Amino acid sequence: MLDLSVINAMFPPDLPEPADWERRFGPRALPDGAEVTRFAPSPTGHLHIGGLYTAAVARALARQSGGVHVLRVEDTDRSRRVAGAAEEFSRLLGAFGLAPDEGGVAGDGAWGPYLQSERREIYLSHVRELLRRDRAYPCFCGKELLARSAEEQRAGRSPLGYYGRWAPCRTLAPEEAARRLAAGEPYVVRFRCPYEFPGRVRFTDRIRASVTMQDNGNDIVLLKSSQEELPLPTYHFAHVVDDHLMRVTLVVRGEEWLSSTPVHLQLHAALGFEPPAYAHLAPLMKAEGPSRRKLSKRKDPEASVDYYLSAGYPPAAVQHYLRGLANIRLMDVPTAEALAADVRLDGMRPSGPLLDLPKLHSLSREFIASLTPGELYAQLLVWAEEYDPELASVLARHEELALAAVATGRPEGAPARKDLERWSCFRDRYGFFFAELFGPAPAPGDDRYGGLAPELVRRIAADFAAVSPDEWYAKLGAIAGRHGYAPDTATWRGDPDRWAGPPRVVANVARVALTGATRSPDLFAVARALGRDEVVRRLTAVAG
Ligand code: GLU
Repeated sequence: MLDLSVINAMFPPDLPEPADWERRFGPRALPDGAEVTRFAPSPTGHLHIGGLYTAAVARALARQSGGVHVLRVEDTDRSRRVAGAAEEFSRLLGAFGLAPDEGGVAGDGAWGPYLQSERREIYLSHVRELLRRDRAYPCFCGKELLARSAEEQRAGRSPLGYYGRWAPCRTLAPEEAARRLAAGEPYVVRFRCPYEFPGRVRFTDRIRASVTMQDNGNDIVLLKSSQEELPLPTYHFAHVVDDHLMRVTLVVRGEEWLSSTPVHLQLHAALGFEPPAYAHLAPLMKAEGPSRRKLSKRKDPEASVDYYLSAGYPPAAVQHYLRGLANIRLMDVPTAEALAADVRLDGMRPSGPLLDLPKLHSLSREFIASLTPGELYAQLLVWAEEYDPELASVLARHEELALAAVATGRPEGAPARKDLERWSCFRDRYGFFFAELFGPAPAPGDDRYGGLAPELVRRIAADFAAVSPDEWYAKLGAIAGRHGYAPDTATWRGDPDRWAGPPRVVANVARVALTGATRSPDLFAVARALGRDEVVRRLTAVAG
């Protein structure tokens, strides 16, 4: 083993001891059974729906148990670091109502800092500790040598890694290592794996129950190149130290980390830590024809979280949906109830849930339909301010009209129309209410008038313009009759040959002139919300 003085000389003299960190980040005072979970993204700049799903599950498990959910940004990989990524994660999680209790940008919390790049001293203390216990060693192998080893391992179908005859520094004489360190040779610090020939390891995963797999036999790197001005730890090492010192009790993360769990358990043991519990979430899947595949960041736009934000799915609906992906029983209960119910790991399947946008649409439609006009207006405005400024300024200028417009789809005593599944549909469904967004009414020859002769369309529009919208309902029959259409549907059904058609053909003229579409909320309610002046203006434009 290396001499203590040699080890100490590798580190700043005033570096704290692990015990100092233990004291500083003491155990949390939480009720029994409270889980401390974390979401620990690497800042590549983008948050994917799989990450949001993990964050939603981890946060729910903490919150429902009276625990704490932490956001920790794992930015020890300089080449992948993106400026402002922590801010971006916080913004995105916040936008979906998944803000952490601790960490992220605000960084507040007594167990921080929460950016790994700001925790270097903590890691160094623990690397030194492992060197002192001979559970780590300096490795001087250069890139070429490692590349050659990897080639040999591939050719011989041996596992890749630093072990056995490919691990010369593991057995380097301490004097030799000391000499090379003193000479300033570049090195990394490696973990001394407990076994040269590992067998199988068994551990518990809260979703899969008992997992048995090949144990780790690779002396992984703990601290990256000493040539860097500030050598940083690897993810494997840093996250073990962090999970321990942040007093994380339950690691919820993607299944891609399941195969690294044996080395993480070895690191916890070497450092004398009690490991957390683990729950590895199966990846989200996408149906492709009759088969399923993993959702792809490259191929599927819905893999990106920005997609949900810019399309304007209400955050509460997305949250409900993500919880439903975790526990299918939460998918079908009404929203408020589903958001209040517990997510259960024992309700999860080890196979990946299918990301199914039509299901999200229907939840989202239900959710929007459950809002009062005032709530809807407020949430829509928040979205529009960010993603559709023109709409936002129209909504802000015409709040009363906006509320009246929305109310047409929510008639009193009747169920609300489920006609909005995301805020970006609002323009299409309700934009016509606003003169600035409506543009000119369709001209009389337009198909939307149902093939009526332009002259007839003009005359019908003029008839409607002459009557106050409050009287339309009563006068529709008379207007229809004047142009050869039946005064009501029953009369038309009774003798269809006698009439040019049912009265709805006539009403459709007013509908298209006012809304630009052949389908709309109740026509009379629309006309009332628009107000007499605007109704007359639009109809007169068509009547010519
Ligand atoms: N930083 C890792 C990632 O990017 C987190 C893995 C973990 O949660 O332990 O996914």
